[in-house]
Amino acid sequence: MAIEKIAVIGAGTMGHGIAQVAAQAGFKVCLEDLNAEFVARGVAHIKENLQKGVERGKLSAADMNAALSRLQASTSLNDAAADADLIIEAVVEKLDAKQTLFAELDELCKATTILASNTSSLSIAAIAAATTRTDRVIGLHFFNPVHLMKLLEIVVGNHTSQETLAAALDFAARLGKEAITVKDTPGFATSRLGIALGLEAIRMFEQGVASAEDIDKAMVLGYNHPMGPLRLTDLVGLDVRLHIADSLFSELQSEVFRAPEILRRKVAEGKLGKKTGEGFYQWES
Ligand code: NAD
Repeated sequence: MAIEKIAVIGAGTMGHGIAQVAAQAGFKVCLEDLNAEFVARGVAHIKENLQKGVERGKLSAADMNAALSRLQASTSLNDAAADADLIIEAVVEKLDAKQTLFAELDELCKATTILASNTSSLSIAAIAAATTRTDRVIGLHFFNPVHLMKLLEIVVGNHTSQETLAAALDFAARLGKEAITVKDTPGFATSRLGIALGLEAIRMFEQGVASAEDIDKAMVLGYNHPMGPLRLTDLVGLDVRLHIADSLFSELQSEVFRAPEILRRKVAEGKLGKKTGEGFYQWES
């Protein structure tokens, strides 16, 4: 079945970005959130991004207007879901919230509709279990900012069908994203690898192997990473990374994911990285 109409549920950081790239790729998109203010904020961010693109010569004003003409906004889940071929959920990262939403969507949308989650850590099978169409549920893990990041991590649940995976791969190609296909396992590919590297860098800092600057430089200049793992931890938030590490440690039972003491201590002291002015680096406010 060809995907033409997309609904994106949740107009926050990720939802508005997903709606933008889908509208730019020629899909009809309905962006839905709980109230008019949240939806309007999402649409305003999309307009801002597109406008910047025009100013930088990345797209024409005509392309911007065409993308905006394909974009609808709504506060009605029913309206958004009714005729969508693919629904992408980007609401809070809580299993019960996603399960409740998926159960509702399962009732509201067509039998053929594919339901996707942008979850960065939750099990696709657990989300799919709230529906009667586990074969048509899949993970579409986008990266922030969505319009700039090339990667789409496609997460295949236990019951996800080959047809659903094929439709997701086709969707990724139409968006101009590079897709990777990953089994529904804790941390998928991206978080599992990213956290493993980040925690090892923190352990090395804790053991005095080198300064934060030099550990980061090792990866930037030695491996061509755009940013070192400690600076990245400061940007993402030490609390966010600790939470993911704890969850991967409990699920995978691997020492690789045991959070170093210094990470736990910094979080307890409120040194959460850039957002609080200090993490592994000092940040100007
Ligand atoms: P966010 O808080 O910026 O946005 C969430 C939006 O969902 C809010 O506008 C909220 O009002 C809305 N919402 C909540 N419940 C809803 C419901 N029942 N129906 C409709 N709208 C609802 O969050 P975000 O950062 O965009 O994250 C969304 C999802 O994407 C999460 O699962 C997160 O783990 C995942 N994710 C986030 C990032 C990131 O860098 N922020 C990256 C990849 C994946």
